[in-house]
Amino acid sequence: MSAHAVTASAARTSVRLADGREIIYFDDMPGLDRSAPDRRDLPPYAPAAELRYDVLQGEEVLVAAHRQNRTYQPAPGECPLCPSHGEHLSEIPADDYHVVSFENRFPSLGGPAGGRCEVLCFTSDHDGSFATLPPERLATVGRAWADRTADLGARADVEYVFVFENRGAAIGATLPHPHGQIYAFPYIPPVPRRMLAAAERHRAEHGTCLLCDVVAREATGPRVVAETDGFLAYVPEAARWPYEVYVAPRACVPDLPALEAARRDELMGLYADVLRRFDALYDHATPYMACWYQAPARAGRDAAHLCARIYTPQRTADKLKFLATSETGGGAYINDVLPETAAARLREL
Ligand SMILES: [Zn+2]
Ligand SMILES: [Zn+2]
Repeated sequence: MSAHAVTASAARTSVRLADGREIIYFDDMPGLDRSAPDRRDLPPYAPAAELRYDVLQGEEVLVAAHRQNRTYQPAPGECPLCPSHGEHLSEIPADDYHVVSFENRFPSLGGPAGGRCEVLCFTSDHDGSFATLPPERLATVGRAWADRTADLGARADVEYVFVFENRGAAIGATLPHPHGQIYAFPYIPPVPRRMLAAAERHRAEHGTCLLCDVVAREATGPRVVAETDGFLAYVPEAARWPYEVYVAPRACVPDLPALEAARRDELMGLYADVLRRFDALYDHATPYMACWYQAPARAGRDAAHLCARIYTPQRTADKLKFLATSETGGGAYINDVLPETAAARLREL
């Protein structure tokens, strides 16, 4: 199957890869030709994830055994997220790109499980990082995230769009090229589900939005990391990780598509500012996990207040926090770093 443009609008072009998967180019400016065909000979795309239910814990578990064969720490020059050049045919057919999002070749969702997994590359620069993206690129990533949230959330088999980044081999990232992922779940995953339930309880008791109240309180407290007119970055009172930051709008906004472009750009700038602080913690790039909690696609939207959560298990320059039995088996987190100390450190970086 040859690549062909399915939709094209200003600075957004959707084409198909050789095995039928969709790839969407989000460009910093309109008018770029993204019609380069995928010249690889790929086996048919057949996602085989399975959704099972743990009756004892009352939670879903995804089983995706085919992922055992996925690309793991490829040799330099064989990166599947770099642009295609000459004999090097990657997941991105174009010889350069700004931002792309494409269906994951080794997905944890799709097939019988429903839903969809996408890989979203922030830059064609293999050695780049999110924290060092220029403002125009941050704006494009924000636009791509909002687009994917709205587009995937409109699918009948999607209840929750989870945007995240897993950065660093130390915490299991299999590819060093700067990228994030999007899991469009056919259900609301346990952590956002618990957060929505807490927000609903708070509204029933106090008549107000939980995160609105938390942001207002944190704004005058000792755990602020950075702020703009519209957004606050703070270490949560009960941080689970050595360094953990929430970035949230002061106003009640359910998700990224609900933000107007200028506000979204402001948020992206503050988010990148927090990542720069994380990277300045040690003399090496800090491994981190970053997730966006947004309103579900349908049920439960009223309780939701958008926020990003960034955390690292790196507790000293050469020590990682490993999750112990109390944490994985008991769900009881123990943090060795005082959240107020972590906030002071991040504030001064
Ligand atoms: Zn690369
Ligand atoms: Zn709110």
